[in-house]
Amino acid sequence: MEVKACNKCGRLYNYIVGDNFCPSCKAEKEKLLKNLDGYFKETDDVKIDFDYLNDEFDVSRNNLVKFARKEELSVDSSFELISCMKCGKSISSGRFCDRCKKETLDSLNSTYRELSLKKAFVEPVPKMRFIGK
Ligand SMILES: [Zn+2]
Ligand SMILES: [Zn+2]
Repeated sequence: MEVKACNKCGRLYNYIVGDNFCPSCKAEKEKLLKNLDGYFKETDDVKIDFDYLNDEFDVSRNNLVKFARKEELSVDSSFELISCMKCGKSISSGRFCDRCKKETLDSLNSTYRELSLKKAFVEPVPKMRFIGK
């Protein structure tokens, strides 16, 4: 077990895993995320009222962006809080839209395939040449 000082309140606590927050700050954050989630699901507004969120939940736009990027909070893409880091399309959470995520995965997969193909073909070749001499 590791003793750490909480990132938020500075209290010492037994760190387990995840964010560096003590149990009470962690519970507070979870409550906040739940409240925010409820707000975004129930609101009829088409734009995020940052002043209201600041007054009501004490969160800034930056906080919201951070939560959404870390996929701790999902804000409907119609609010345009964050956008895909590749194509700029509005997304609800994370860093990339579904299409770019898939593209990245596909290109990773094909790179991997190419590499393993190359490996399979390159290795036996020198031996064969050697034998042919
Ligand atoms: Zn704390
Ligand atoms: Zn994208």
